[in-house]
Amino acid sequence: MPHHATAGSFLGGSDTLWFVLLTIAAVAGVAWSLSQKLSLLLAGRKDVELGRWNERLRGVLVFFLGQRRMFLEPLPGIMHALIFWGFLVFSIRSVSMVVEGLTRGWELPFLHTPVGHAYLLTKDVFAVLVLIGIAIATWRRLVTRPERLEYSADAWVILGLISALMVSDVVADGARIGGGAPGPWAWTPVSAVVGGWFAGTSVGALRTLYAAAWWVHLGALYVFANYLPYSKHFHVYTSLPNVLLRPLGEPGRLAKMDLENIEEASALGAGKVTDLTWKQLLDLYTCTECGRCTVVCPTTITKKPLIPRNLTISLRDHLNASAGEILRAPGEARGTPTRELAGDVIDPEVVWACTTCRWCEESCPLFISYVDRIVEMRRHLVLEKADFPAEAEPAFRGMEVNGNPWQLSGETRGDWAKGLGVPLASEGGDFEVLFWVGCAGSYDDAGKRTSQALVKLLQAAGVRLAMLGAEERCTGDAARRLGNEYLFQVLAAANVETLNSRGVKKIVTNCPHCFNTLAHEYPDFAGNYKVVHGTQFVAELVASGRLKLTAELRRDLTYHDPCYLGRTNREYDAPRRILEAIPGLALKEAPLSREKAMCCGAGGGRMWLEEKLGDRINQTRVRQLQESGANDVAVACPFCAVMVGNAQKELGIEGAQTVDVITLAAQALGEDSSQPTADGRRPKVDS
Ligand code: SF4
Ligand code: SF4
Repeated sequence: MPHHATAGSFLGGSDTLWFVLLTIAAVAGVAWSLSQKLSLLLAGRKDVELGRWNERLRGVLVFFLGQRRMFLEPLPGIMHALIFWGFLVFSIRSVSMVVEGLTRGWELPFLHTPVGHAYLLTKDVFAVLVLIGIAIATWRRLVTRPERLEYSADAWVILGLISALMVSDVVADGARIGGGAPGPWAWTPVSAVVGGWFAGTSVGALRTLYAAAWWVHLGALYVFANYLPYSKHFHVYTSLPNVLLRPLGEPGRLAKMDLENIEEASALGAGKVTDLTWKQLLDLYTCTECGRCTVVCPTTITKKPLIPRNLTISLRDHLNASAGEILRAPGEARGTPTRELAGDVIDPEVVWACTTCRWCEESCPLFISYVDRIVEMRRHLVLEKADFPAEAEPAFRGMEVNGNPWQLSGETRGDWAKGLGVPLASEGGDFEVLFWVGCAGSYDDAGKRTSQALVKLLQAAGVRLAMLGAEERCTGDAARRLGNEYLFQVLAAANVETLNSRGVKKIVTNCPHCFNTLAHEYPDFAGNYKVVHGTQFVAELVASGRLKLTAELRRDLTYHDPCYLGRTNREYDAPRRILEAIPGLALKEAPLSREKAMCCGAGGGRMWLEEKLGDRINQTRVRQLQESGANDVAVACPFCAVMVGNAQKELGIEGAQTVDVITLAAQALGEDSSQPTADGRRPKVDS
């Protein structure tokens, strides 16, 4: 058996004691820092939904190890993946160097096997790939300087330490190779090149060089490990658990507050940072400050004070600064910070600005949530402080008294359907699907036209439908997202009672907000229905041949994806399938469409608030849509219709129209495909 001189023998052994002491200090430092952070996390609320572990582990493979979301931007994605994967590869090498220092003469037991050879080759190649990654990072920070990056010394410290780890590794192996130490060096081509540079250097000098590189490597490792918890690179520790424990529920579903069992001492919503859940606190520690959330946020784009990354950083810094108040002496109860979140730490304008569009969350490579955190702060302001924008008050009152935020009579809710022959569910007849009209579909003029159009389409296809009429109330979507959980729960309970008493199994609705709430939030109130959006229903009818769109509509238009249909409920195709089925209609896509579509500004209850700061979101969105080359805009949400239509008028875009996809489909319905209604009449639609 050939004798291999071990790395340890090349290292020498006079300073083992110092290394042992240094290692103990480094490990103790990391353990203390992590225990402090863990104690802070555990000060958060406990109600976090877990389970579905197979799915969670798959997510770790895809999003943590596979870095999938990082590749949404190719160059930074490659840069990060090279550094990250190299880091994983080098973790084995670094640990082996630590053990080598503690037990001189030790080396990886499999080093002289094919597995070891493969590892050495991988490690050597990755030393170069990581340095390429660092070169790309340096280039971006010094030359291209993307707007979304924060330029802090922190990044340079980390890049410097990672470079030191890589360079010291190949220099150490190069010194061993140059010094004639036997080993499987055929598998370390990069180190072999470095070793060649040392030809002619004395073995003694190369032993000293090896020892120096070894100390630099482990010194950098220990500094790195201890520095991370105090830097934005804490995500090196937290990203694995954050991806593993990411929310897996429906993205549009907000957690139900247990209003019946509120303990006297506990706050409603998030008043203090410790009112957030431990997972929301873990989010704060996981943010890399990459700014991907920020460049897509409609409020940031329109120069409002809500900048998602800054919100997270402010909360994280506040959590750290509150450690003294939260973590009392051992044995004492955990404390609560004195500072309120909204007002003391976060400008309330930030809290109210969010449209809950969730683009920030979809962009974040580490699954950091925003909407739940922001709504928790709104809940505290509304339920505990009665402190909310004045414009929300009439909308709240309207929902409470009249069952709609327009404050119009609930008795007239079904008036839009007069003469259309739509039976009421309360009449007890048999129906296949309930048309949930929604407030906009009942009271807003354009919304009413869309409701009438859907009725025309469903009747033409012979679908047996019914509606609730005056029995229907607002779903409470806007109330909930504006923080008025109490009002939402009252509305939800009343609606579920009505729907269940009418034997409703399947619902179709034109409003994506109603769709989201009925499908994903009402199950928490014993309301379980199959819910489809109007565009999904109609697209199916067209695909199956039950509806024929034969009338030609000669026009160019673009389509605006509503956040609550697209990003939140991942329905991008159904409205497009309808538009593409209409003869003569040319759909022109805007660059920011589908997953990249920006909000119109109405979500999160913002429909009912004034937009006093920055540019107007709806106007910014319409300008984006105009990049398609079309001025007319098709929508699939009554609130988008209002926002986009208003912006077209405000911007003075001559002749531009906003029209719902359902209305267009009804216009394209050829007379031959229109079936008479049950009572023999053909519906008349004002579209
Ligand atoms: S949900 Fe939308 S508006 Fe709110 S912070 Fe995220 S990107 Fe901005
Ligand atoms: S929240 Fe996510 S996307 Fe935003 S800065 Fe932090 S890591 Fe980046």
